[in-house]
Amino acid sequence: MKVHEYQAKELLGKADVAVPAGIVITTPAEAAKAYDALGGGLVVVKAQVHAGGRGKGVAVGPEVDREEALAIASGKKPRPDGMAKGVQLVRSAAEAEKAAASLLGKTLVTYQTGAEGQAIKKLLITVGHDIARELYLGLAIDRNLKCPVLMASTEGGVEIETVAEKTPEKILREPIDVGLGLADFQARKVCKALGLTGATAKKGVVFLKNFVKFFIDTDASLAEINPLIVTDKGDVMALDCKLNFDDNAMFRHKDLAGLIDEDEEDPAELRAGRSGLSYVSLDGDIACLVNGAGLAMSTMDLIKYHGGEPANFLDVGGGAGKDQVLEAFRILLDSSRVNAVLVNIFGGIMKCDIIASALLAAYDEIDFRVPLVVRLEGTNADLGKELLEKSGRKIITADGLTDAAKKVVAAAKGHAA
Ligand code: GDP
Ligand code: MN
Repeated sequence: MKVHEYQAKELLGKADVAVPAGIVITTPAEAAKAYDALGGGLVVVKAQVHAGGRGKGVAVGPEVDREEALAIASGKKPRPDGMAKGVQLVRSAAEAEKAAASLLGKTLVTYQTGAEGQAIKKLLITVGHDIARELYLGLAIDRNLKCPVLMASTEGGVEIETVAEKTPEKILREPIDVGLGLADFQARKVCKALGLTGATAKKGVVFLKNFVKFFIDTDASLAEINPLIVTDKGDVMALDCKLNFDDNAMFRHKDLAGLIDEDEEDPAELRAGRSGLSYVSLDGDIACLVNGAGLAMSTMDLIKYHGGEPANFLDVGGGAGKDQVLEAFRILLDSSRVNAVLVNIFGGIMKCDIIASALLAAYDEIDFRVPLVVRLEGTNADLGKELLEKSGRKIITADGLTDAAKKVVAAAKGHAA
């Protein structure tokens, strides 16, 4: 689950990680008020969308071609005068109001959103700081090391993807023991690598330790501060922050679950979640309905092995009753990319003939516009298969995983042609 910058900063602030003061607003008039409330001077108006690259991004209305906007936001085309950026520095209440009006209700296109862009509904109005240095900090889970890794670089404020690709030696990587958090010596090492000295280094150590503690305590999966700034007064502060939390840990963070912005999430994944189904969206054209994560993984592997690409997979878990299967089919078929559906279910406690009846009932209630391949294994598998074959519906039955994968790959290719 991703959260907005303003939510991330609120959480970091509570965890004693230094962030600039800010106010969230939804109208231009509120922006002017917020400017005054923040004490005037340099103030920053920031579009709140779940994507980075806002500083170079463009806020556009429906009249602007989105591909053109993307080319401008990615620096491939020159920026026309007067095209609003997603992050704007202002110096008066009137300017704040004007900046807000240029953003609210528009679509922000950045190199990260793609041409589609994202709707701007909220702005963060935040105290501006004079920047002495822009640094980079990131925390992510390293799957090989099986622990979080703190990444730090002096190359802040720019696209870290480029730094990682061209000059990876400029990114320091420090593995974290989740039981201990960031040790003092590690914090000092990172501060040294970032070129922080004296009182600033002391502030840096506190910042880093609290940041890492926050990451571990909240079961975050990704946290990126770009830029981390050193102000002209020698303070260390998170000027920007992207945060993702592990969805599978949300059950122990009920307070965080409320931060979800449903407008920014994959609608199919949200819909599946509400019915107790796990849905994962992928790039191919074969939809998969399975029970159990292990079976899902092997189904994906076999489809790929036989030359196909999964469009998604939906795990119905332990149960596969009619209502669940019906909702699952609806979600799977919602994507226009889908050229075939594979049902691969192991009937253990739930017998295969019962599952077959549920499949048939669901099949009849929806307009099944693509081929359906079904492989049932387990208790009463033969009975289930017989029911499907004798039903008179256009359902392709399969024996075993390989047969199912081959049949669905062929069916998808046939349907696409
Ligand atoms: P992003 O483009 O989506 O990553 O948004 P950021 O929050 O990182 O802001 C983009 C850029 O705006 C930063 O890299 C800074 O250069 C600039 N910026 C943001 N806040 C301030 C500020 O308080 N003072 C100054 N001088 N520049 C700022
Ligand atoms: Mn940034």
